[in-house]
Amino acid sequence: MPTGSPIAEANKISQLLRALPDEERFPVDVERVAKEVSRVRYANEPIVSIEPFDIKGVDGLLAQHPSAKKWKIGYNSQIQSPGRIRFTLAHEFGHYILHRQLRNRCQCSPKNMYEWDERNIEAEADVFASFLLMPLDDFRTQVAGQSPSIEMLRRCSDRYGVSLMAAALKWTEIATQRAVVVAVRDGFVLWARSSRSAFRSKVYLSSKKFTIPIPDESAVNQADATSGPITGKLRANAWFSNEPSDVELIEHAIAFEGDYPYTLGLLLLPDESPRWESPENEILAPVYQSLQWRK
Ligand SMILES: [Zn+2]
Repeated sequence: MPTGSPIAEANKISQLLRALPDEERFPVDVERVAKEVSRVRYANEPIVSIEPFDIKGVDGLLAQHPSAKKWKIGYNSQIQSPGRIRFTLAHEFGHYILHRQLRNRCQCSPKNMYEWDERNIEAEADVFASFLLMPLDDFRTQVAGQSPSIEMLRRCSDRYGVSLMAAALKWTEIATQRAVVVAVRDGFVLWARSSRSAFRSKVYLSSKKFTIPIPDESAVNQADATSGPITGKLRANAWFSNEPSDVELIEHAIAFEGDYPYTLGLLLLPDESPRWESPENEILAPVYQSLQWRK
């Protein structure tokens, strides 16, 4: 049976889990779901075991038994964070659902889980994991009516049992405002993702440029793992050179230590177009906007 897209496959499983009461549904028990779903849907080749292993530089693996009749999933015993373990298991389950006909073994390192290139099976497994652990409809309900902040993301990361980074990336998929999430280490951007409206207004950090320095005055530079989240204001063009000089953005930042040290930044920009307050201006709005686009 052909498989669908990573999102469609994750949504199918989420539909099954909807029947559970809220407190059993989240965080998703990936181990149980992977075993039960594979047993029911693919009885000839189920996932029978999920165990820690010890291979240096490998976070997770999916492997077929030599008999070709069963599979196992493994995660590195050195991973401390329960959120990272859960995401790794969901990622490997994604390889099983989406890619087991292509490969009989997947070995995944932290590097290829976070790399920029989005057209590969690693990215597909990440998308599957993200939608399985944080279904969009539920995520939308959780953040509805709230001002974006590290605390808001923290509540989501607690509900879904994932890292703050995973929750922040998910939020960029549904955010209606202009926003960019950045992960930073040693003064340089590891990766960044823009919300749709930010991307449309050319507010993004290019994936082609691997050495994007952080503006000196940015709160992202000042966050310290021993203190909590910090907030600041900054000229938007310190980050994004296309923004007019009078536009300011709000920054929220938090730093982490441990096996994956980095600082997470949440950059929030005001809407690009002026707000149209009078009915007269509403009529003219499409004209003004088309003029702006031509600039
Ligand atoms: Zn992988």
